[in-house]
Amino acid sequence: MFFRRVTLFHFFGFPVKADGSWLFLSVLICWTLINKAFPLDYPGHSPQTYQMMGFASICGIFASIIAHEVAHAVIAEYYHMPIESITLFIFGGVAVMKGDPSHPKGEFLMAIAGPIMSALMGLFFWAAKALVQMYFPDATAAWQVLGYLGGLNMLIAVFNIVPAFPLDGGRALRAVIWKMKDNLVLATRIASEMGACFAYLLLAYACYRIVWFNDMLSGMWFGLLGFFVHGAGAYAVRQTESRSLLGTETVSRFLQPQVVTVSPDLTISDLVDNYVYKHYQRSFPVVDRGELAGIITLQAILSLDRHKWHWLHVASVMEPLTDKNSVGPDYNAADALDLMQRLRKEQVLVADGKNFLGIVSYRDLAAYLSITMKIDSNKPVITSRTA
Ligand SMILES: [Zn+2]
Repeated sequence: MFFRRVTLFHFFGFPVKADGSWLFLSVLICWTLINKAFPLDYPGHSPQTYQMMGFASICGIFASIIAHEVAHAVIAEYYHMPIESITLFIFGGVAVMKGDPSHPKGEFLMAIAGPIMSALMGLFFWAAKALVQMYFPDATAAWQVLGYLGGLNMLIAVFNIVPAFPLDGGRALRAVIWKMKDNLVLATRIASEMGACFAYLLLAYACYRIVWFNDMLSGMWFGLLGFFVHGAGAYAVRQTESRSLLGTETVSRFLQPQVVTVSPDLTISDLVDNYVYKHYQRSFPVVDRGELAGIITLQAILSLDRHKWHWLHVASVMEPLTDKNSVGPDYNAADALDLMQRLRKEQVLVADGKNFLGIVSYRDLAAYLSITMKIDSNKPVITSRTA
């Protein structure tokens, strides 16, 4: 679902990122408003006026979505649930949290802050419309855009308050169940089952639009939304389960110290002949005179032109050491799993400064989780901390 993300700017200290899908969608929405929606709903303007109305609306939509997400982010920060970024993607925005929420009260208030902000924005745009209409009755296009933005914000508020996880209403519901049962995993499961029911309703409605009304556009739109709600709910359940099973375990518990390392001076063909074929590792940490320098993966080797294998050296192909591919021995295992999932990595290096200790692989963590889940199905219980 996610495309490449770019950071647009920082707002209240949070990086605001946009997914490629959002940029594509904003162009599509702008085009639809200018050529279809506005001429139909507000007839009698010139094409230039419709263009200005379209651009003003897309700016207003952008501000509305950011306001909604910033409201989530500010409350999250207030309750010490750090926000990593605000990302705009195909269905609006999402405030990406670092890890799971720490207590139900914070989660509840964070969840409802977004829709409350949208409702306030809706009232604000409607009030602005009334004022413009009163004092500048001839500025028809201006108050029509303000009225449109008011309605849109109200729609965002109403849609998000549906108690279907991972929508805001579903998150609030999860917080309530979490408080009642004192079990985040159970609460996430129940809330996302309701989310799944809502997703099926959306998919059924999508089919209805397509079959009965031959309305492909809104059919596809509701269908995509249904798939998104379903997929995101299932992902959140997995995420919460793995977090609660791994608990406070650090990566040192899952460390594989017996890993063959290579020198940066090797050529790629030497690496393939003498290391890859012999040790069957999918990646090799690169160690230069006792100091960890980076990692070279099979994937990086295979993406090279084979004729270059004879003269290219490991040093120029490896990924240098960064905080995206290496962690300290006390790093939380669940955070490491998150890191690997987010960056689609098969492993992370574990190092104490430049001193290489070993690697932690995604496969090992996943195997640990699947075994623990089978052996001790009662284990996933997180006791809520005080709010
Ligand atoms: Zn929201």
